[in-house]
Amino acid sequence: MPSTASLPRPGIAPRPAPPARPLRLLVVEDERKVAEALRQGLEGEGYDVVVETSGEAAFFRLTTDRFDLILLDLRLPGRDGIEILSAVRRRGLQTPVVVLTARDTLEDRVVGLDAGADDYVVKPFAFAELLARIRAVSRRGRPAEVERLTVDTLVVDCATRRVTRAGRAVELTAKEFELLLHLTRCARQVVSRDTLARVVWRETARSTTLDNVIDVHVSRLRRKIDADQPVRLIHTVRGVGFVLREAEGT
Ligand code: CA
Repeated sequence: MPSTASLPRPGIAPRPAPPARPLRLLVVEDERKVAEALRQGLEGEGYDVVVETSGEAAFFRLTTDRFDLILLDLRLPGRDGIEILSAVRRRGLQTPVVVLTARDTLEDRVVGLDAGADDYVVKPFAFAELLARIRAVSRRGRPAEVERLTVDTLVVDCATRRVTRAGRAVELTAKEFELLLHLTRCARQVVSRDTLARVVWRETARSTTLDNVIDVHVSRLRRKIDADQPVRLIHTVRGVGFVLREAEGT
């Protein structure tokens, strides 16, 4: 027998239909207690929450993962919030950002909005206020981000995780896809094995074994992406790493 609490009550307007999937939030906050409280509170509200406690980790997370909204503390060790925000906007990511800032730093708020934040909440804040800001910013109806990356005839669709080369579907394993996604996002820049170890394999320390694993994945990926193509895209940069680009060269 269903609980009466879940039955609609007469006289109350029906709630709008829930979204098809929970909104995915990235919380970037170095104070672990605050970060944990935010996670618990937001998960309690039905959000899907990922927490990163350093700017560096948040930055790498954003290169491999998609979010509907970012809650960003500005004062972070390593890369600070403004740096992350600027980098995100420079890459063309339109994910809404709500900045968390300390009470006495008006400058932070101005700098945050200038760098592309959508809104800010001053610490300490009431949780209800934060929820209201999140709802307001996510309602603003930015077009859902459809990120498709194209290099030569390679198309990587980040939403569907589909990859085509010259119009033909390419079947990739999850790891191969992540590897390709990172190389494509960083197209024309050399990506080191260190970076791949951290971003794709989530390993902080490199080892010969891991280097071998990376090399094996890259050569498999190369076979799937470049085989029989007039233009090769995945190049090894000796002693450094790899680069995805149209042209051969050093
Ligand atoms: Ca902080």
